[in-house]
Amino acid sequence: MNIVDESDIPRTLSRLPSIDALLRAGPIQDLIKVAGSHQITAIAREQVDLFRIDIQKASFVDANTSAESLRSEAVRRVERAWQSKRLAAVQRVINATGVIIHTNLGRAPLSDEAGQALLRIASGYCSVEYDLRTGSRGLRGRHAEELLCELTRAESAIVVNNCAAAAFLVMSVFAAGAEAIISRGELVEIGGDFRIPEVIERSGGKLREVGTTNRTKISDYEKAIGADTRLILRVHPSNFRIIGFTSSVSNAALADLAHARGLIMFEDAGSGALIELSDIVGDEPVISQSIGDGVDMVSFSGDKLLGGPQCGIIVGRYELIEELRNDPLYRALRVGKLTYAALEATLESYSRGSAFKDIPVLQMLAISYEDLVERCRSFLDKCTISEELKCEVVQGHSVVGGGSSPDVQPLTPLIAVSHSKISAERLDSMLREADTPIIARIERDRVLLDLRTVALDDESELCSALTRCVSKNLS
Ligand SMILES: *Cc1c(COP(=O)(O)O)cnc(C)c1O
Repeated sequence: MNIVDESDIPRTLSRLPSIDALLRAGPIQDLIKVAGSHQITAIAREQVDLFRIDIQKASFVDANTSAESLRSEAVRRVERAWQSKRLAAVQRVINATGVIIHTNLGRAPLSDEAGQALLRIASGYCSVEYDLRTGSRGLRGRHAEELLCELTRAESAIVVNNCAAAAFLVMSVFAAGAEAIISRGELVEIGGDFRIPEVIERSGGKLREVGTTNRTKISDYEKAIGADTRLILRVHPSNFRIIGFTSSVSNAALADLAHARGLIMFEDAGSGALIELSDIVGDEPVISQSIGDGVDMVSFSGDKLLGGPQCGIIVGRYELIEELRNDPLYRALRVGKLTYAALEATLESYSRGSAFKDIPVLQMLAISYEDLVERCRSFLDKCTISEELKCEVVQGHSVVGGGSSPDVQPLTPLIAVSHSKISAERLDSMLREADTPIIARIERDRVLLDLRTVALDDESELCSALTRCVSKNLS
């Protein structure tokens, strides 16, 4: 297929299989069984068109190209196109990046308990909005809300689709047509284009910025309060830290000021810890503490430090939460049964006192350096790979991620993998192509694997993927 003779092009084109013939090929029939003929026919048409263009461009032409080999090539192209389409589907991956709350990889992996709770209700009916005691309609998510109140000591709780939705709901109900005061040090963008000023603008409220980026005093808030002021806002800077010559006002002082002036104090805690985690994650707000400080409403994500499913949680004073519940916007932002099932199971772990045992995010945060060194050693002992694949344990850092604790990077032993003949980029992409894709990072021409975010049960898959990388390359 190397000598290109223009006159071969029409002849080669005429030997291309028809769509019908292509669809009758054995491997394509197998694909049709999996994906249905509609989808595969569309892919076959597209691929034969592309193939025709390649031939016209003379990149696949040879006087001797038989109809049979053109057909095999077309089959291969359809199979490849189908596989590539499949890769876009949401699927299980192994996170070896060391980023614990990895937004691109689904943030918090659920606990076994939450996973089982999902399975128990997924394929049947469930009592999401039905009261089994009275046999009539019940309050959606009641048990989750009760658990949230117990764990945060708030009077009331409500759950929506995510923390962005939570902030939007609060602003829409309480800031529309009014003014909300915020410190300039808290006007931050959270990953994925969540900007508080834009949320407030969209909700019909007005933002009144006070203080400076690094310092805001209580008198700045006091002076800004006017006839239209309705809310004092605190936004946790999450993925951002201001250090050095700084000062900010405590939640308690802000709440006191708000109440003395008839205002509502709302805190968007973002990640927010349900239990004290300051040893591990630094200054992430503990929700019960905010409530204890007098904050009227606090919002936080379900799938960051809490370690549960994607959702946004608002806890706070009963009358305020009821206003949110009665707003039509809540109906548009509410969550489904699967979210409640997973959230309840996650919260129950906290309630039982077994959060650190059950919840993967907390386990990954808490595991010690020494334990991880031991895991790396035993992984490398068990996983014997070829001589050419060099694996050594080096020191590095994991990342909390998800816009939490940017200043905390847990010290971590990493497995650095390199190969005498395969580049780090190639190794990395081979790992991504494994049956269960493995996501790693590359540094100085080595692939780095961080076992902190790899479940123990996934280690054997990681090992066989590494082994296969090498053997595939040699074959
Ligand atoms: C992460 C975060 C959000 C957005 O939360 P989602 O659950 O991703 O919608 C909002 N506010 C703060 C302060 C955050 O940290």
